[in-house]
Amino acid sequence: MTRFDIRKRDGLARSGIFQTAAISLKLPAALAVETLFPDLETLDGTNLPLCAPPALVNRYPPRNNGQPLSIHPHLDNPAQSGDCVMVAGWHTALSNPRNYVEWLISLKEKTPIDTVWYAPASGLPSNVHLLCYSGFDLFDFRAVDLKTAQMQFCTPEGEFPADALGSGICTCSGCQKKNLKLHNRQALLHEIALVTRFIEASQLRDLVESRCRLHAAQVAVMRHLDNHYQFMERHMPVARSGVMRANSGESLQRAEIRRFAERVITRYLPPETDVAVLLPCSAKKPYSLSQSHRKFGRAIAGRAHELIVTSPLGLVPRELECIYPAGHYDVPVTGYWDAEECAVITDILARYFARHPYRRIIAHLEGGALRVARTAAEVCGITLEYTCREHPTSNSALNALDSALAGERRIKDDRLHGMVSYQFDVDLDTKGIMVRGHYPELFYSKKNVQIFSIDTGTGFLRPTFDGWNLIPSGYRVYIDDFIPEGDVLVPGVEKADPGIRDGDEVLVIGTRAHATGRAALPADEILRSGRGVAVRVRKIKRI
Ligand SMILES: [Zn+2]
Repeated sequence: MTRFDIRKRDGLARSGIFQTAAISLKLPAALAVETLFPDLETLDGTNLPLCAPPALVNRYPPRNNGQPLSIHPHLDNPAQSGDCVMVAGWHTALSNPRNYVEWLISLKEKTPIDTVWYAPASGLPSNVHLLCYSGFDLFDFRAVDLKTAQMQFCTPEGEFPADALGSGICTCSGCQKKNLKLHNRQALLHEIALVTRFIEASQLRDLVESRCRLHAAQVAVMRHLDNHYQFMERHMPVARSGVMRANSGESLQRAEIRRFAERVITRYLPPETDVAVLLPCSAKKPYSLSQSHRKFGRAIAGRAHELIVTSPLGLVPRELECIYPAGHYDVPVTGYWDAEECAVITDILARYFARHPYRRIIAHLEGGALRVARTAAEVCGITLEYTCREHPTSNSALNALDSALAGERRIKDDRLHGMVSYQFDVDLDTKGIMVRGHYPELFYSKKNVQIFSIDTGTGFLRPTFDGWNLIPSGYRVYIDDFIPEGDVLVPGVEKADPGIRDGDEVLVIGTRAHATGRAALPADEILRSGRGVAVRVRKIKRI
């Protein structure tokens, strides 16, 4: 009986411990896999090409007598939680990015999440970042040993002729001994250790964006995966607490970035006002703590709804500025927006304006953000007012903004309403709700009973049981007839709302107890997995 205890998930990538009867192995890992599975070398019929037609695959299905279980895109998947699955020939997929992604999705969709994924003869220092990003965890030394036989010197940046050994590129013990095989194996182990660190920091995507640059096929795999937004979005946590480095063009297509924009357009409800000001972003997050936004705030004085135009997120309503990833991204600021950036963000603005008409929209912007706002206004047939002849923080621009708003009335500052709509898709009646605390650490209460607090790491709201009473539907996890002791585990869950993602605040409902907490897996993985934590519980209430 084998078992995979996933410790950390980062998109499709995972780190954790694989338990077999004999050993306990930290993953991701590379090793002589036949020491783990002695029958591996005698497994029959497991080497069907990935591109083989379904008729052929069905005629010669692999004979699965034990671990690892061979899986194929065209075959039903026999794998269960804790199994090790093997995708033979995965190294051939790397040269065909479109198929790579189609095969991967078809395999992932039919396999429980807590299975170990073995890619035989595939792992190299130059591709293991992408293999882990795709959800593979176990590798052997065959691919690097083959490079040794071909007199190739392996590095994360690619392979070089063997005279690179001793050139100073690497000083590992293999290089010191002029032993190419040892260097190549160590280079793979070294890269896996690095990838593991990035997974554990929830930043593997940032590493992949940087590593893949030297390999066109790897860039293509990343882009094809991004194009499968529904699939990728389901696997992405709603929040992380670290910085998101949006340093490449592909950042625009990251599932988390697109999800933010989609929720701003389809879920978010702006406050009751018909005047909006479009503002530039600031390097400091949340924006309102920056010098520039303090100046904007003084000039606006609550007389308009504040919307921040920014790349790559598009549009950040002021109420959402602390929420991941709005409060967490870092971008290279040059003032120049490229054509794709402009097109994507124009579309976000145009869709938002079409959904939420304002009587007046003041563009307190310059440069790329201004160009985008102008184009979006043209698309929707609306007229913008402009208040920046000079830099947005210049006195003349700030005075123009102040004068433009003369006579407009102050709007009610209601961050909570906007945040609840974004996070829970609910139109909350905030009448009678009081706020206390120091921004951004806020607590909301009604009739002296606390209903929400803010997780300052992620910016997300944490409802109390009384808070959940105000959220009529969604984000519920239904459990069996038991009182949870600590976290709610996967086998105890009977039903979960399909919209739940890793990291979402959820209400656990059972016949004997209710609990508040945070989902540790997306809903469909909770229902498909055999074991592990489903909800990290904060409070339990017996009923
Ligand atoms: Zn070396």
